[in-house]
Amino acid sequence: MQKYHLLFSILFCFLIQAGYAQNKYTVTEVPDPKASGSGYVSNPDVILSTAGVDSLNRTITDLEQKTKVEMAVVVVNDFDAAQEEYDFALQLFRQWGIGKSKADNGLLLFIAVDRKQYRFITGYGLEGLLPDAALKRIGDHFLIPAFKKGDYSKGVVSALSTIAAYLNQPGNRKELSQLLPPDTGLRNSWLWTIGSTILVIILFTVVFLGIKKKTPEISKSKAAAKTNGYDKTIGCGCGGLFMVFVAAGFIIGFTIGYDWVRSLDINIIPIVLYVVLSIMLLSRYLNAISVLRKTHQDDLNFNQAVKALNRSSVFYLVASPLILIAMLFEAYRRNRSASRFKPQLDSHDKEMSRVDRDQTAQAKSFLTKGQLKEEQLEVNHYDIWLSSDQAEHKIINYPGSNFDDFTVCPECNARTLGKQRLVTLKKATYTKEGEGKDIRICENCGYEEFIKAVVIAVLTRSNDSSSSDSGSSSSSSSSSSSSSSWGGGSSGGGGAGGSW
Ligand SMILES: [Zn+2]
Repeated sequence: MQKYHLLFSILFCFLIQAGYAQNKYTVTEVPDPKASGSGYVSNPDVILSTAGVDSLNRTITDLEQKTKVEMAVVVVNDFDAAQEEYDFALQLFRQWGIGKSKADNGLLLFIAVDRKQYRFITGYGLEGLLPDAALKRIGDHFLIPAFKKGDYSKGVVSALSTIAAYLNQPGNRKELSQLLPPDTGLRNSWLWTIGSTILVIILFTVVFLGIKKKTPEISKSKAAAKTNGYDKTIGCGCGGLFMVFVAAGFIIGFTIGYDWVRSLDINIIPIVLYVVLSIMLLSRYLNAISVLRKTHQDDLNFNQAVKALNRSSVFYLVASPLILIAMLFEAYRRNRSASRFKPQLDSHDKEMSRVDRDQTAQAKSFLTKGQLKEEQLEVNHYDIWLSSDQAEHKIINYPGSNFDDFTVCPECNARTLGKQRLVTLKKATYTKEGEGKDIRICENCGYEEFIKAVVIAVLTRSNDSSSSDSGSSSSSSSSSSSSSSWGGGSSGGGGAGGSW
């Protein structure tokens, strides 16, 4: 009985010993988290909390997505007694091949709890951004204090978040991206940028010339004399866009900063070019319609000219989707006035023909001077229909864009009496009131409608407020470009370690 007891004891000790030896990992025995698909953290002795491991995996996944940097964390109780922690970690690093090949952008944090030792191993590519001294400082600051309290999760999580945040800074990200071999795909190469830039330029040149060809010649003085709604749209649009660009510039300058601009890819060049050119093209298109409006007094002719311009609309829309808005607007306007061009019927129910207002001076014999003035002022438009035997004619009016700005003149009966306005008869001075009158004037016959006499108030001297306060000092806060470089150490198998 005693014998058995002894045997059991020995066996029991042996088993414990064996179990204990099992915890002294060799390099090949450390479970590879990548191989098991469990992330980036090897935690076989369950030293880190589940929440800690989850947090680490999230941080490292995010970093890898953004910078392609690969990080691994290994936490064990103990390892092969014959080895130093530096050799062990370096061997593990090489065996797993942490980091992308050629970029060599891997980082391993190895921790042996029983030996109270930690060790960072960096790939060649990361030595510049994460010099040994920096890692040493991170270890001193985050790992050791937490490890002394036995809070391994907290120490590792805070250290790695700090490293990830640092590597994620735009300047560093750019440096990290340079480690990676250029993409074999066309997208990231200069070829793509140059090719698409040329394509964009060709597309726009073709469309610009196409629109130009369909735009009639018009003298500058004539164009300036007959401004219309399209001109106003172009003016407002250009002004508005200019404001948007200035505002965007300020926002980028003050909130996102220079680093963001620097991190931009050259691939953005053709895209920016496309946006700018498509806006210019919209303006060119509206200008073409404006010129068509000026050269076609007749509304039907104008509609047909716009239709002809839109025949190549597919190309316009590819080059500038914004043109669609203008096209829809034009189509709506055309549609609304479509009934206007349906032939009128004479007293014998025969179709009448419409007088082309661009072709003939004939119209002038049908319309009064007042009606012609109304057309000139865009108050009313007149369609003249003639019967086939020319014996009958019909005149039908359609309100123009300025219809509401004029009223009917009691003198000549044309709707050409302008808005009320003040006419100064005697200027006011600093001592005496002035005199004036509110009147309305007829643009056709010159009739003046007197409304009331007006007293113009005495001028007052305004306080001289031109003295500007020149005391404002503009303090240009230099943006803190975090170039907080940690020393400059680099070593073959760079890294840092420590104990607590
Ligand atoms: Zn009048």
